[in-house]
Amino acid sequence: MKKILITGAAGFLGSHLCDRFMKEGYHVIGMDNFITGDKKNIQHLLGLENFEFVAHDVTNFIELRGRLDYILHFASPASPIDYLKIPIQTLKVGALGTHNLLGLAKAKGSRILIASTSEIYGDPLVHPQTEDYYGNVNTIGPRGVYDEAKRFQEAITMAYNRFHGLETRIVRIFNTYGPRMRLNDGRVIPAFMGQALRGEDLTVFGDGSQTRSFCYVEDQIEGIYRLLLSDYEYPVNIGNPHEITIKDFAEEIIKLTGTKQKIVYKDLPVNDPLQRQPDISLAKKILNWEPKVSREKGMKITFDYFKSLSSEELYKAEHKNFKEHIKK
Ligand code: NAD
Ligand code: UDP
Repeated sequence: MKKILITGAAGFLGSHLCDRFMKEGYHVIGMDNFITGDKKNIQHLLGLENFEFVAHDVTNFIELRGRLDYILHFASPASPIDYLKIPIQTLKVGALGTHNLLGLAKAKGSRILIASTSEIYGDPLVHPQTEDYYGNVNTIGPRGVYDEAKRFQEAITMAYNRFHGLETRIVRIFNTYGPRMRLNDGRVIPAFMGQALRGEDLTVFGDGSQTRSFCYVEDQIEGIYRLLLSDYEYPVNIGNPHEITIKDFAEEIIKLTGTKQKIVYKDLPVNDPLQRQPDISLAKKILNWEPKVSREKGMKITFDYFKSLSSEELYKAEHKNFKEHIKK
């Protein structure tokens, strides 16, 4: 039985990856420190024979007994609001955390896949974004803590690949959504759906002409799964190329949720990318992958999930673990 370590296991993508690899018959070790994650995302796996959970901050030395075939490094705050609140932890998990996991992969002879992001392209001057575009990132802007950590993560991963001959994979994830996103994480889909459910107006930042392209989680997980098992060691974009302006998207959500509220406009956050759309030609070619779930279907499933949450969840303003970690 293949053994895989998944960091960020209690988070949105990490928990779906745990599910997928359990389904494929792997022995899964989930690791998380809960800074932006939630135990309830993996509650259904705890106690199963082939699932282990280790509560650990990956910026500290990682010790695991026995063999390890694969590592998926997904631990990192991912929402702009999260990484603005915990900037040092964001830099540390991308830099020190990745270094620890590469060291672990080297010691165990594991193949490692790291979660990179469309943010490494910054506010892109090339559209749609292809993997050979170097990006347009403000190193010292508020988003720099995330973008630069991820760029360092890619660089050190390729250094381990070239210098130590490590088997590495890099996925550049574009905006992905679905059940188990945190309702209060500030990302646009939970933000708009939470507002609709609470009867608040939908806050569009800027004039809403900036674009994003949203990928349903099931498609994203399939792409990551195929990339891990492929023999391609350079970065690959995984996302849905179906692009939409944030204003049109807010209108779509008003229609879907049936809310009587309206759109209100707020300031555009500093360095908020004005356009984002993945070019997925490479993923199509080498992984024979493309997204299958329409936005209409994916958004409906996601809204049903948010609707099923308790009112305590709906009105919770801040993640409980932030304050504790900020003190450290
Ligand atoms: P998330 O916040 O739901 O999950 C991240 C998980 O990592 C959380 O459970 C958190 O507690 C854990 N974590 C953070 N720092 C840690 C540390 N030092 N030690 C151990 N655990 C730690 O976010 P997500 O959307 O699931 O994102 C997962 C990964 O995918 C991240 O690396 C993110 O950068 C990347 N990504 C996600 C998206 C997206 O659209 N969801 C887009 C681009 C990249
Ligand atoms: N956004 C918005 N209103 C919100 C939250 C986000 O208009 O309440 C916008 C944000 O400015 C950005 C887009 O939605 O242009 C996507 O933001 P998100 O935080 O989901 O992630 P990003 O793609 O910026 O990393």
